[in-house]
Amino acid sequence: MSLSNKVVIVTGASSGIGAAIAQVLAREGATLALVGRNVANLEATKNNLKGTKAEIVVADVTKDAAAIVKQTLDKFGRIDVLVNNAGILGAGGLIDLDIEEFDSVMNTNLRGVILLTKAVLPHLLKTKGAVVNVSSCAGIRPFAGALSYGVSKAALDQFTKIVAMEMAPQGVRVNSVNPGFVVTNIHKTFGIADEDYKGVLQRAINAHPMGRVGDVTEVAEAVAFLASSKASFTTGALFPIDGGKHNLTPR
Ligand code: NDP
Repeated sequence: MSLSNKVVIVTGASSGIGAAIAQVLAREGATLALVGRNVANLEATKNNLKGTKAEIVVADVTKDAAAIVKQTLDKFGRIDVLVNNAGILGAGGLIDLDIEEFDSVMNTNLRGVILLTKAVLPHLLKTKGAVVNVSSCAGIRPFAGALSYGVSKAALDQFTKIVAMEMAPQGVRVNSVNPGFVVTNIHKTFGIADEDYKGVLQRAINAHPMGRVGDVTEVAEAVAFLASSKASFTTGALFPIDGGKHNLTPR
């Protein structure tokens, strides 16, 4: 995939899709800055990347953009790709909206992405690099009862497209992957109880035209493609990894 010797920052590398992205990028020869807040989980990700150059960057994407860039440059001297994967869920529709939770979701899923991309951009301009944002099927089509999350990911998708247009003449590509339901810790971290999870999962299976949910590696492979020179003529694209769910008409 032409990622040999490319330095890639992966946010949210301590869990789920981000840990799988780290695995796939490592397989393709990338050098990695693994960003997250949970040190033990970041170490677990790093320990699985046998033989890969990787640096753990303990940081909060809502406030540590400059520190993430500095530690990556101090360690590796360049940045070729930024994968904005860190994200959180939000609950409820407009009537029961908790505005503090809305702010938190927007801070992590949108504002944090903007801050880090802005901080990394001067270095991507030097390397003619790329950004891959991990958005969601919920950015493309509306889901009643997922207001904060859907708004954050729809705004992220517009951010992807706008920055792609701004950076295209300079040779920096910006794309996103938009997964459907993928089994990770995100749903349980968000507060879905163990006894409810089976029902949530079954409804998710039924909601995807392919009749199943996704796997972290299916998302990670698409991220690796968009990060690599194999996607050299692709920018401003939203790439659904959702078994066809984005084409369903909302009820
Ligand atoms: P997980 O909960 O497994 O992982 C989320 C990751 O985000 C963790 O590594 C966590 O790291 C990191 N993170 C969250 N907040 C911050 C923060 N403020 N600073 C730094 N890191 C942070 O979830 P997934 O792997 O499922 O989610 C990854 C991305 O995929 C998200 O953007 C999510 O919206 C998206 N997605 C997921 C889907 C799914 O069904 N799983 C579907 C569609 C999209 P730490 O705890 O170490 O801080």
